[in-house]
Amino acid sequence: MHIDRDIKLDFRDVLIRPKRSALPSRAEVDIHREFTFKHSQRKYRGIPIIAANMDTVGTFEMALALAPYGLSVALHKHYGEKELAGFFRSLKVKSNAFYSMGITKADREKFERVIGRVGEAIEYVCIDVANGYTEGFVKFVENFREAYPKMTIMAGNVVTGEMTEELILCGADIVKVGIGPGSVCTTRDMTGVGYPQLSAVIECADAAHGLEGRICADGGCATPGDLAKAFGGGADFVMLGGMLAGHDECAGKIVKRAGRQYKPFYGMSSRAAMEKYAGGVAQYRASEGKEILVEYRGPVANTVQEILGGVRSACTYVGARKLKELTKRTTFVRVRGPGNGVPAEG
Ligand code: 5GP
Repeated sequence: MHIDRDIKLDFRDVLIRPKRSALPSRAEVDIHREFTFKHSQRKYRGIPIIAANMDTVGTFEMALALAPYGLSVALHKHYGEKELAGFFRSLKVKSNAFYSMGITKADREKFERVIGRVGEAIEYVCIDVANGYTEGFVKFVENFREAYPKMTIMAGNVVTGEMTEELILCGADIVKVGIGPGSVCTTRDMTGVGYPQLSAVIECADAAHGLEGRICADGGCATPGDLAKAFGGGADFVMLGGMLAGHDECAGKIVKRAGRQYKPFYGMSSRAAMEKYAGGVAQYRASEGKEILVEYRGPVANTVQEILGGVRSACTYVGARKLKELTKRTTFVRVRGPGNGVPAEG
């Protein structure tokens, strides 16, 4: 047994210290980023925020709504081949959508069939498993890279520098970081496994950047300020589930309770998801996700404006003219909780 005595931080444990700057207003801040990916060598330009590949949030409708802003969606993996082919064929900006897949033989075969229909129309793939620490996963990424040298591959999830390096060396362009922080995730409770998300982001970003790789901070963002902290900590991309749930573009019907409107949102390994797709929770595994109702919030465009406004404003407070400069202008101060103690209304 070993105890790591370094302090590890979650978003709520810090605030970003303001810095003197010559920036007059947030309108002057550019939160687009440009990357050339290490392996695929493809060029990306956009606002590096990605809707999670959860089947309520990672929808075609979400992709269409986020496209005008330059944001992306990791599509959930339960769409049929025909639908996927049709969607990718009509996709104008390729970075708008990631094709998501697990690492089973069936996942790989389905991908081969879809790519057989659409060819070059898919440029971004998200290879996603709950536990990115298995040999099988690393091998899958390696084989996939060999087969598709020009595909931009995002792979995860991991939370440590050494595994981030391994995935990048095996062919990942972007490593997805986060085990346990998700809003409908119960991994920490069910298994005792996890890592405070901000520290995971800081450590994995450092490891990735040393190899010209990128990371995506996945899970645990509940406010625009959390995105600012993730970017400030070194995240190149941020993935959002809960913050984008409850909108028109999300799958699921509106539910009325006591005069208020809600939409369903659930973890991809929750009982609800397993019953929908796998015919129930298999005996050897426990559900590691929750099913909740979130307040219905209308079109996602309003929420997007709010998120982008928050990130832009964070940049102004530290004098970052571009999102790229946010990390080097960020000093975190440790606090007990980020709020000011007054609960928000509603
Ligand atoms: P959020 O933005 O809602 O805090 O986190 C979204 C992330 O939670 C997803 O991108 C995914 O990594 C993770 N997640 C989604 N469903 C589940 C689940 O059922 N169990 C666990 N452990 N994590 C989940």
